[in-house]
Amino acid sequence: MDYKAADSIQDLQYFGEYGGVNPSISDSSTYTFLSAKTMFDTFEGNTEGCYLYSRHSSPSNLYLGEALAALEGTESANVTASGMGAITAVLLQLCSSGDHLVSSRTIYGGTYAFLKNFLKRFQIEVSFVDITDLDAVAKACRSNTRLIYCESVSNPLLEVADISALSKLADKRDIPLVVDNTFSPLSVAPARLGAHIVVHSLTKFINGSSDTVAGAVCADKEFCLALKDVNSGAGMLLGSTMDSLRAASILKNLRTLHLRIKKHSDNALYLAQRFEEDGLRVVYPGLPSHPGHKLFKKIMVAEYGFGGILTLDAGSLDKAMELMELMQRENLGYLAVSLGFYKTLFSTPGSSTSSEIPEAEQKSMGLTDGLIRFSVGLDNDIDRSYRRMRHCMEQLGILAETTAAR
Ligand code: PLP
Repeated sequence: MDYKAADSIQDLQYFGEYGGVNPSISDSSTYTFLSAKTMFDTFEGNTEGCYLYSRHSSPSNLYLGEALAALEGTESANVTASGMGAITAVLLQLCSSGDHLVSSRTIYGGTYAFLKNFLKRFQIEVSFVDITDLDAVAKACRSNTRLIYCESVSNPLLEVADISALSKLADKRDIPLVVDNTFSPLSVAPARLGAHIVVHSLTKFINGSSDTVAGAVCADKEFCLALKDVNSGAGMLLGSTMDSLRAASILKNLRTLHLRIKKHSDNALYLAQRFEEDGLRVVYPGLPSHPGHKLFKKIMVAEYGFGGILTLDAGSLDKAMELMELMQRENLGYLAVSLGFYKTLFSTPGSSTSSEIPEAEQKSMGLTDGLIRFSVGLDNDIDRSYRRMRHCMEQLGILAETTAAR
C-alpha cells in the first residue's frame, strides 16, 4: 500500500489574517451577514463559503477538517468534541428505530456500551461478531442492517480487520462500512481500502499530547454535510462541537504525526520482540506470531510500521497492578488510560477502558484480567527502557513465572 497522506497534509497552505504562518483562530460563536437574504439561504442549506454559528462550523474547525480529510484520503471531514461525539453522531445519523447493525465484538468499551445499552432505547438492535470471521459477519447481516462497524486494529485485543473484504460485504448490501482508525492513523488507511466512513478519537495519537479530548468523522462531502444539516444532522443537533481554540491546537500537532507514528511503531516493535524473546505473552501485530500479522503487512503503509500499541499478559490482575505501579515509580511511563502520549501509558483494559464489557464476554473474546495495554512512548533510547522494564518484571517474578507457565 503506497500513498502520501503526510505529503498531502504538508502541502496544505494557510496564511493567518496578518500573514501569520498559522491560520488565525476564529474566536467567535456567531457570524455577521451583510444581507439578510444570505442568512436565509444559509439556513436553507446553501452554506458554501458562509459561516453561520460555530456549532455548525467555524473556520478553525474547517481547516482541521481539511487536514484530516487529507490524512484519510476522504472528500471531507467534520471535527467533534470527542471521539465518542464522532461515533455516536455517525451511528445515530445512519440508524433509526427498528434498524439493526453489525459490529465487531472487540471494540473500545465506550463504543460497546453505547451500542449494547444505549441504542436499545431507540429499538436499534446490534449483533456483535468476531470481525475476523467474514462468514459470521455476512450471516449476521439482515434486511434491516444499516451498517457494519469495526476498528481497524481493535481496542484492546489488537485484532486486525480485513477492511477490503468487509467493504465488499457492505457494498453488496449497499450499506456503509464504518471504521474507527484511532489505533492506526497513517499505518492503515481505511478509506483507501474501501471503508465508507472513518472515525477517530483525536484525543490519542493524532493530537498526541494528552491535553485534549476530540474526534473526527472522515467521509464523503454528502455525508459530512448531512451530519451538519440544521434540520436533521446528528452532529449539528446533538451538539458535540469542537471548540475553535482546540481545533487550532490539534492542527499544529497533526503536522508532526508522521514523525511520531514512526517512532511509536519502532519502539513498540522493539519492546514486543524483546518481550517475546523473554518468553512473555505479548501481542503485537508486528510479530509474525500475531494472527493478523500477514493481513496487517498486506494493508499497511509500510513506513509507519505496526503502530504503538502492544499488550502483555502479566498472569493475573494483582501482578499486572504491581507491575504498573512499579513501572510508574521507576518513571517508565504512567499508569493511565488513553494512548499516543510521548511517555508510555499502561492500563489493564479489563478493569478500565473495557470494563463496560461484561466479564463473561471479556472471557469469551480472550480479554484476560492480567492483560496490560501499553501505548509505547517516544523514548529516545528504547533499549534502555526495555532493560529497566525487564528489571521490574524480574523483581516481581513475572518473567520467571510466565516463562515457567509456557
Ligand atoms: N475509539 C477508540 C478506539 C478509543 O480507544 C476511544 C477512547 O479510548 C474512543 C474511540 C473514544 O474517544 P474519546 O475518548 O475521544 O471520546
